Amino acid sequence: MMRRRRPIRELRHCGRCHHRGHLRSPGRGDRCAQCEKRSDGKAALMRAYRQSKPLDSVIDAPTAIRFNIDLLNPEIRPRAGSTNIVVAPTEGLAECCQRYGYEISFVDLYEDRTPSISEGIDSLPGDNPSLIVFPGKSQTEAIKELIERSGLHDSYVIVLSDAADMDHWRSLGALLISGNELPQRRSRGNGNTGVPAVP
Ligand SMILES: [Zn+2]
Repeated sequence: MMRRRRPIRELRHCGRCHHRGHLRSPGRGDRCAQCEKRSDGKAALMRAYRQSKPLDSVIDAPTAIRFNIDLLNPEIRPRAGSTNIVVAPTEGLAECCQRYGYEISFVDLYEDRTPSISEGIDSLPGDNPSLIVFPGKSQTEAIKELIERSGLHDSYVIVLSDAADMDHWRSLGALLISGNELPQRRSRGNGNTGVPAVP
């Protein structure tokens, strides 16, 4: 008996995350199976990475530590033509990030770091996709203006959001990502991710 041949399926990029794969079933719309359950922010982050687009970012170091984010992961680390700022890192983290092309905004231990985060966001031109790793609503004004600048360049802003604030950020036009969707540092003793442990 002859084996039935599987129909040849066309390879193409997912419109959401740019994953290259087989044509999806129409029921999934423009999403590939890989990103179906991912947030808009995560899909956009993957799209920028797969298209080798520069990704600008302002990253609050205490937030990155809280979510165990690997700042040296290729998905988010500085690429050619990007502006990337880490706010309030420890000295060890700062040194390591600088080697990978991050700019550092130092803040004294007991100083409010929100003005430095706003300053970082204000300095992003909006012509690249931008990622903001700080969930505080204190940045509403700065992020609103960045989204406006980005709109002029047909670009977008990805904001790390706590579950409770998703409607707030979405109403401004941000693409949301949750802390655990950003690349995670592997646990200690399981290979070197480059970011030193927090004392
Ligand atoms: Zn996809």
